[in-house]
Amino acid sequence: MAEVLLSTHGLKAGYGDFQALFGMDVALNRGEVLALIGANGAGKSTLLKAMTGLVRCQPDMVRFKGEPIGGQRPDRIARHGIAMVPEGRRLFRSLTVEENLVIGGERARKGAWTLERIYALFPILNERRKNPGTALSGGQQQMVAIGRALMANPEVILFDEISLGLAPVVIKDIYAALPAIVESGISAILVEQDVSRALAVSNRFACVQEGKVSLAGTPSQFSRAEITAAYFGT
Ligand code: ATP
Repeated sequence: MAEVLLSTHGLKAGYGDFQALFGMDVALNRGEVLALIGANGAGKSTLLKAMTGLVRCQPDMVRFKGEPIGGQRPDRIARHGIAMVPEGRRLFRSLTVEENLVIGGERARKGAWTLERIYALFPILNERRKNPGTALSGGQQQMVAIGRALMANPEVILFDEISLGLAPVVIKDIYAALPAIVESGISAILVEQDVSRALAVSNRFACVQEGKVSLAGTPSQFSRAEITAAYFGT
């Protein structure tokens, strides 16, 4: 049996009086890539935010290795070994590439991922390492955001909208890095607008619709028509 690393259990969460998630059950097994697909506003980002402490929920609603972590502060959740590559990258634009990467490793667990290894994964970052965050293309910023998460040597990385707004050639480079990340022992949840791309690289998927999981399984288990119906709620 696969070990469940990170899971949600009847997760309900929202923003003030607005409820966005209505009892979500999702599980990420060790060593796998789980794709989260679903239309705009379905609740994918809110799910990741609840997993990383950016949105409040009950302790038992999010578990890491079976232990309740729901509602813990983001820094405490990060110390468990859960890192996020947020939508919009959120780099420190006044800092250089290297300074942004080093920040990701501060107070982090030691492990296989070092500056050198990240530069080997994304050689363009080595060339640009003294450049400020402002001088980077969107794709290069995404590489820095991924590198920053890797510097924490996490067990899990949550990628929110990994390819949104990036040119196709850059998306290819970003996706080319995924196997090395997974082979290093990191499990991943991938939020991706491009359903075909997401399904092509994931072991399992969960389709989110109006704050609930409408379909979950392996990509080969369902036809495209069934997945599309779950996506649109038809
Ligand atoms: P998208 O691809 O558009 O980011 P999503 O599936 O990630 O979609 P969420 O961002 O999780 O969806 O949004 C779920 C619901 O919560 C939506 O109705 C959205 O309008 C609402 N929402 C998201 N962020 C906030 C916020 N900060 N305050 C209030 N409501 C929010």
